[in-house]
Amino acid sequence: MEILLTILLVVLAFTVLPPAIRSIRKRRYFASEEFLAQKNAITSVVTEHNEVAAYTSEIRSHGSYRLGASSTGAQAHLASFQNTSNYNYRRDRNVAAYNAPNVHNCSLQVVRNASADPLKYLMKYFNIKSDEPTLADVERLGESIARLEDAVSNLHQREADITKSINPPAFILKHYSDEFMAHVGVDLSPINVPYPTYFFEYVSAGGNSSQRTKIVLDTRTIDALIEVLSQKIRFRKSAAGQRALMTARLRTFIKSRDNHACRYCSVSLAAEPHLLLEVDHVIPVSKGGLSTPDNLQTLCWKCNRRKSNKLPVV
Ligand SMILES: [Zn+2]
Repeated sequence: MEILLTILLVVLAFTVLPPAIRSIRKRRYFASEEFLAQKNAITSVVTEHNEVAAYTSEIRSHGSYRLGASSTGAQAHLASFQNTSNYNYRRDRNVAAYNAPNVHNCSLQVVRNASADPLKYLMKYFNIKSDEPTLADVERLGESIARLEDAVSNLHQREADITKSINPPAFILKHYSDEFMAHVGVDLSPINVPYPTYFFEYVSAGGNSSQRTKIVLDTRTIDALIEVLSQKIRFRKSAAGQRALMTARLRTFIKSRDNHACRYCSVSLAAEPHLLLEVDHVIPVSKGGLSTPDNLQTLCWKCNRRKSNKLPVV
């Protein structure tokens, strides 16, 4: 009986006590004068972080993150599928996603070919045409993705910096990192970059096996697609073939040409290490502006937001 009691106490000491003690230490830390003083010292840094966070959700909701669609299942919503078999317990583990526009249902051969030659198959089966309007769409997608990627990574840098300047005890970071940010006043809005993702999928007749090729349109893939489309268009001697392509390389060139400084307010990366800079079309694409270096400029996020809010919604 005594042995049992001892075991019980030991188990309690190892399971219940540590979290309880940790919780007390945590409350003490967040109420400590040291923490409150540090928190007050960086109020303006936190405020600016939260402004960038709000801006990030704003550009997330305005961006375009779609391109092309598969024709398989374009009318699948008009029917309903039911497995009426009595012996379906091992069947239908894989059900073909006919309704999804980003899934192309096809033969195993096409799945394999798509993994060997992704851009060619993406264009063919998701109806991405090699013409100028499509090229402009892909460039716009690339800009939305890159802009959001930059904003999200800017937020992460700011958060790392805030954590570093307060330098909380290790147990806080390990067990209460979100709570720490909330106490500091940081709005954590976990925004993910919605990369368009496409699947070539083969599902066997019985549904027992399935294989797929996945293509994610991240900046690298989008830039490759822009190159391929432009090659095809250039081959046809069209006007778009002559202009610069809106790729990561061009955006980097514009920022360095402008010395990583805002063309409106002159604030620079040298003066503010966490400055979020964006590449803007002087005359917007919607108004016929081209992605040429003379129509592109570096703006800080604040000036860019002010500029886009003045323009009528197109
Ligand atoms: Zn500015």
